[in-house]
Amino acid sequence: MTESTTDLAVVGAGPGGYAAAFLAADLGIGVTLVDEAPNPGGTCLYRGCIPSKSLLHVAKVIDEAERAEVLGVKFGAPTLDLHVLREWKNRVIEQLGDGLGQLSSQRQVNYIQGRASILDPHRLSIRGPNGDQVFRFEHVILATGSSPAIPTEFLVDSDRVMDSTVALELSDVPPRLLVVGGGYIGLELATVYAALGSRVTVVEMTDDLLPGADRDLVMPVKKRMAGLAEAIWPGTAVARMEISGEGVKVAFEGKAVGNSDQVFDRVLVAVGRRPNSKIEGLDKTQVQLDTRGFVQVDGQRRTAEPSIFAIGDLVGEPMLAHKASHEGRLAVEAIHGSECLFGPLAIPAVVFTDPEIAWCGLTETQAKAESRAVKVAKFPWGASGRAVTLNRIDGMTKLIVEPESEKVVGVGMVGAGAGELIAEGVLAIQMGATASDMKTTIHPHPTLSETVMESAEVFFAQSTHYRGKAR
Ligand code: FAD
Ligand code: NAD
Repeated sequence: MTESTTDLAVVGAGPGGYAAAFLAADLGIGVTLVDEAPNPGGTCLYRGCIPSKSLLHVAKVIDEAERAEVLGVKFGAPTLDLHVLREWKNRVIEQLGDGLGQLSSQRQVNYIQGRASILDPHRLSIRGPNGDQVFRFEHVILATGSSPAIPTEFLVDSDRVMDSTVALELSDVPPRLLVVGGGYIGLELATVYAALGSRVTVVEMTDDLLPGADRDLVMPVKKRMAGLAEAIWPGTAVARMEISGEGVKVAFEGKAVGNSDQVFDRVLVAVGRRPNSKIEGLDKTQVQLDTRGFVQVDGQRRTAEPSIFAIGDLVGEPMLAHKASHEGRLAVEAIHGSECLFGPLAIPAVVFTDPEIAWCGLTETQAKAESRAVKVAKFPWGASGRAVTLNRIDGMTKLIVEPESEKVVGVGMVGAGAGELIAEGVLAIQMGATASDMKTTIHPHPTLSETVMESAEVFFAQSTHYRGKAR
């Protein structure tokens, strides 16, 4: 077999891998990007962020039509054309995938469709539709992402038990859906299916939904989910699951244990993801994995094998697309000779429920756990003119501030569109802004962004529209 050479090989073309490959090409590094799909995009584009957000947009349209009644506009009950809905979602994916394919070829990235395995620390082989190829490289960035973690007790041989990939295909709207896991995926897809008409039950093993987030941010979502879903059972896990006639019979354990076995038309298992670190040939290198299977890397995303870097979901939490892209670009900068180090002060997290939850930097929960002295300034959206005009006062913005320096170290929010607003918090923290900087920065009126400025005003007990104090 002939051997080709490339300066840099990137294995996996998700938001980590393609961001890395594109930057490498922009820096004049010869780059080969490998993925099984015909175009870049990865989990995020084909079975993650983009299809889920397309469907959440549909849920939002349905919800806004319902909410319009109190504004004096009444629409009839929606009728769904699932075929058209699926086609629309698929067109979104196709459009973005084609766009990434074009960006890749315009940059002269050598995109190879196929599955890569490692031959040694400087060679990989690729098996794809165009046959087998071997590449010799100076460096490789592993960006193979993650897959749904399905505990063995949920491995039921039926498409009625779904992971997120299957659920996003939307083959039907099951009359009764059980969602196992009240985390990001569970709550986002529960929102979608409930809006489309399923009676949804969510079971969450821990005592509350979204265990990683501050409780005051989760509260409005819980309230909303209580109206959307048939049941929310925290402190509950699935004990057994079996196919029973046309459905799935489920027995529960934990707080909801008093509920007898129930039959659901479908079950979505959303209990976390595991890294795709079982890469063929990885054992022929010095690359180390931690106990959860994440590839261990240093501050530049270099593994214990000097020629091999790793990024994205493969190297650990938070498993988010923007974190993967940042790491991908950082690894390329390091390969290009920069002394850069991974050390963002704030990585934003957004849960696209209704309302959305978003946070960055230090959370209140973390501050408490680490006994860090902080002041928290909260601004309720009931005091925001914009939130009132939108009929969406179910929100809150808060700043977490270091008392001495008055530096903003964390920002959290819940409310319609919080996912867009959080970027201001990220920039503030990254730039070392103080509460005073945020208070004296003029924000446009009437916008929800004023809630950020006014929470800074709350810090000084000077909010124009809300007579609150930081605590
Ligand atoms: P991935 O995107 O997983 O890409 C890895 C690629 O490598 C894949 O294409 C895979 O096929 C390929 N690959 C694996 N092994 C090989 C091999 N041996 N050879 C060749 N190719 C290989 N994150 C957000 O930030 N915002 C969101 O809204 C969001 N929503 C999500 C919704 C869902 C339902 C899911 C499942 C995830 C969501 N995520 C979201 C998480 C996000 O998708 C991931 O964090 C992100 O895709 C990780 O990027 P990555 O580049 O590390 O890997
Ligand atoms: P998750 O970690 O967010 O949530 C899993 C939930 O399942 C947790 O609350 C956990 O306590 C619960 N759980 C675990 N085992 C259980 C059991 N046996 N029974 C009941 N509950 C159980 O994981 P996820 O929702 O699968 O999402 C995976 C990752 O994908 C996320 O952590 C996130 O990094 C990424 N993601 C991000 C977004 C976004 O950015 N908006 C959206 C979707 C996914």
